[in-house]
Amino acid sequence: MSTSQLVVSKFGGTSMADAQAMLSAAKVCKLKNSSVIVVSATAGTTNQLLELIDSGIKGEWSHALIEIGRMRERHLGIAKELKADAQTFERVEALCQELETLIHGVSLLRECSLKARDRVQSIGERLSSAIFTQAMAQTDESREVKLLDAREILRTDDQFTRAVPNFEEMKRLAREKLGQLSPSGALYITQGFIGRTEDGETTTLGRGGSDYSASLFAEAVGASVCEIWTDVDGIASTDPRLCPRARPIREISFQEAAEMAVFGAKVLHPTTLTPARRAGIPVFVGSTFDPQGPGTWVRNECKDRPLVRALALKKAQALVTISTPKMLNAYGFLASIFSIFADHKVAVDAITTSEISVSMTLDETVADNRHLIRDLSALGEVKVERGFSLISLIGNNINHTAGLAHSLFEVMEKINIRMICQGASVHNCCFLVASTDAELAINNLHGRFLEQK
Ligand code: ADP
Ligand code: ASP
Ligand code: MG
Repeated sequence: MSTSQLVVSKFGGTSMADAQAMLSAAKVCKLKNSSVIVVSATAGTTNQLLELIDSGIKGEWSHALIEIGRMRERHLGIAKELKADAQTFERVEALCQELETLIHGVSLLRECSLKARDRVQSIGERLSSAIFTQAMAQTDESREVKLLDAREILRTDDQFTRAVPNFEEMKRLAREKLGQLSPSGALYITQGFIGRTEDGETTTLGRGGSDYSASLFAEAVGASVCEIWTDVDGIASTDPRLCPRARPIREISFQEAAEMAVFGAKVLHPTTLTPARRAGIPVFVGSTFDPQGPGTWVRNECKDRPLVRALALKKAQALVTISTPKMLNAYGFLASIFSIFADHKVAVDAITTSEISVSMTLDETVADNRHLIRDLSALGEVKVERGFSLISLIGNNINHTAGLAHSLFEVMEKINIRMICQGASVHNCCFLVASTDAELAINNLHGRFLEQK
């Protein structure tokens, strides 16, 4: 890595899990000469914070207090192992105190607004970043280590729990607050996932959003590279947890990687690649625990463009079907459906239509939204079926290749395909199967499209 390059590096929860993991992450930052380091909460903490909110809502205050105590002890334990300074201990204590106050408020009210939810969720990244400064300062004494509150720069709208960043404002704030960063100047440690509205309220970018924060920071500071350090050595042909024969991908285009992320490959948050692609910043994905490994480069252009590059899986999908004879020979019906989705700020992944019905896939949690279903019911009869997984074949020239559908149906012979979407993209063909069939489908498809040459 040339030392003239400005590097933004992001570390996920497993890379922040304990003192040893933090020291490994710090070594990676030194090796790569990172200037902005974006960190997630320590492993499992965001889930635990959400569980605390649930306990609060149920009024289980004494249970919540015990769990907050455990969280405090775990973070203080990491700080102790890193021989942190007094200021860090004070920060950890103050954040745990803030958490206690918030959860107490939730348990008194027996409810938690989305705004309060974001305040609670922000504690995870604020804790880990404060402690990680200590691992970093010990590992690289040649650079000044500064803790940066991401909320000073990452401006968002007020859609709490899924806030949308304001890129222009972010760039302006980065210039104003950080000036021109230099690869040999101070290095900044900041939080992923969190931002702030114009009115000063804390927001979050949605689960897994630290990847997105990293590429937003990379764009805002004019970085040469955005590195995503996680627990696997790069992006694989499918989730290695689902298919042990998953193969590493060494280079992938922005379009293919974006399709993978949007269609469920958890290794990258769906919007991660938007800023990097817009600014032409290559993204590297690698393992904190094997920093010299080859990892995966995500670039604008790549030499190899295989027909099928990867398989993605999106679990917990609902199939929503709206049927009405009014659709027959009518126009404007789809527009009415989509205006309802727009009002509810809901994105649809896959859609098919017939003469009198329209079916689409939604996350099951979205299909739980009673107001959305009520509004759709005004257009026709609405049926919601659950328990599906959306499987995507991702690659190049997918919709222009004769024989691909034949091979696909052959492999899926014994599995019912409930819905299929093919034709809209050169990069993607997706179909819905019962969740109980998903793992078998992925393994069969992998064998056919990614192992046979
Ligand atoms: P982090 O906490 O570092 O953000 P995540 O758990 O969000 O890590 O993402 C890494 C995980 O993504 C891996 O452990 C792996 O199981 C999963 N994953 C899903 N699809 C893929 C894929 N195609 N390639 C690599 N990892 C994948
Ligand atoms: N800590 C947040 C989450 O678990 C954000 C992230 O890790 O990317 O969703
Ligand atoms: Mg992640």
